[in-house]
Amino acid sequence: MVSITMYGGVGEIGGNKTLIEDGKARIFLDMGQSFGFGEEFFAGYLMARTGRVGLRDFFELDLMPKIPGLYSKDMLDGTGFKYRKPMFDGIFLSHIHFDHCQHIAFAHPDIPVHLGEGTKIIKDSWEATSGQKFGEHDYRTFRTGDRIDVNGIEVEPIHVDHSVPAAYGYIVHTKKGAVVYTGDFRQHGSHKKLTEDFLDRVKEERPIALICEGTRVAPEEKRKNYTEAQVKSHSKQIVKKAGKKLVVTTFYPRDVDRIRTFYEVAKATGRKFVVSVRTAHLLQSLGKDRGIKLPNVMKNKHILVFHRELAKAPPLWERDFEKKWIGSDEVRRRQGELILQLDFWHFNEFVDIRPKKGSEFIHSKSEPFEENDIENEVKHNWLKRYGLHHHQYHASGHCSMPEIKSVIADIDPKVVIPIHSEYPNLFKRMAKKVKLPVKGKKFTI
Ligand SMILES: [Zn+2]
Repeated sequence: MVSITMYGGVGEIGGNKTLIEDGKARIFLDMGQSFGFGEEFFAGYLMARTGRVGLRDFFELDLMPKIPGLYSKDMLDGTGFKYRKPMFDGIFLSHIHFDHCQHIAFAHPDIPVHLGEGTKIIKDSWEATSGQKFGEHDYRTFRTGDRIDVNGIEVEPIHVDHSVPAAYGYIVHTKKGAVVYTGDFRQHGSHKKLTEDFLDRVKEERPIALICEGTRVAPEEKRKNYTEAQVKSHSKQIVKKAGKKLVVTTFYPRDVDRIRTFYEVAKATGRKFVVSVRTAHLLQSLGKDRGIKLPNVMKNKHILVFHRELAKAPPLWERDFEKKWIGSDEVRRRQGELILQLDFWHFNEFVDIRPKKGSEFIHSKSEPFEENDIENEVKHNWLKRYGLHHHQYHASGHCSMPEIKSVIADIDPKVVIPIHSEYPNLFKRMAKKVKLPVKGKKFTI
């Protein structure tokens, strides 16, 4: 008997945590944190006391499920919840977005965490360049084509295209048949072939269940979506017309396709791409992965690294890029020669950069979720203050609803289980049989 319990990603985008049990085998597919996790109890400086009391606050406020044999001893200390030796055979991460992997930080260090080779590189770079910590684990890396035997069942990761490299879907070969998990995926990105490979392989299996993401499964799609190629061509037009003015852009920190897009735009328009030091570290780290082709920050003449002057000396890993540093004053003098990556929380650099009036700003992320988004308001205040034009170009990391519909029709699984969607009910319009999971409630297939 195969059973599934979903502890997150139910009626919400993100927070995926799916337990699959078959005979003695017990594995988790992803262990993410929901968007807005704990926001009903915590805000600003009022935070969970994780560092001091482990999971105590989260358990007390019913923010985390009490699952025996999952958590580390440290995290359970003082929670009143009994520590048990690990009772799971592995956690399989689909990709490195925090809504799919953040909560491995609470997991027992002896439970193996399986992840793509590229995913591990991105994780290490993220931890090395920020306060992000996933904790000590028995990390085991794989590549597409590998099959991982876990206590009698086989797990087969296959690459998909998403807005971060090294994203995977899974085929879990249970005794009853194949259970497929899409992870997050798209068909309109620069590497759509990866998703095709996944779908081709899945179709051969005639799965007994398809756990399918539905980020863009909604009554209507309000936000504009472009393909990666369109983001590139529109951005190129803007840069071409910018003349002696500065072009500034912002995008998600690990969206390597977008980094590549702006690098190519810079190259094509004779500008240099000034990346943040974290982006530089990520590019250099991923350069080690044979599957991902990227420019070398230290050798490539089209890339410079933005150096922010801070009160204290920069850490060692930042100093590795010293030869490529460019500061705000130099950016100010060379505005017409550059495309600058500037994250929202570094907008105070505008004070020193003083962009020429009429400079361009390309917001290359999702449009704000809520209308009264304070960050969005502050962003626009800065842009207005310095006279920058705002442009919105973004290619989503997810399939559209019609694409999901055709994927389901193509795979023709016995049952579809929606995940990572605010409108799981809408899957009933797209599949013959849909199982709507209840958070934390086990069901069999
Ligand atoms: Zn994702």
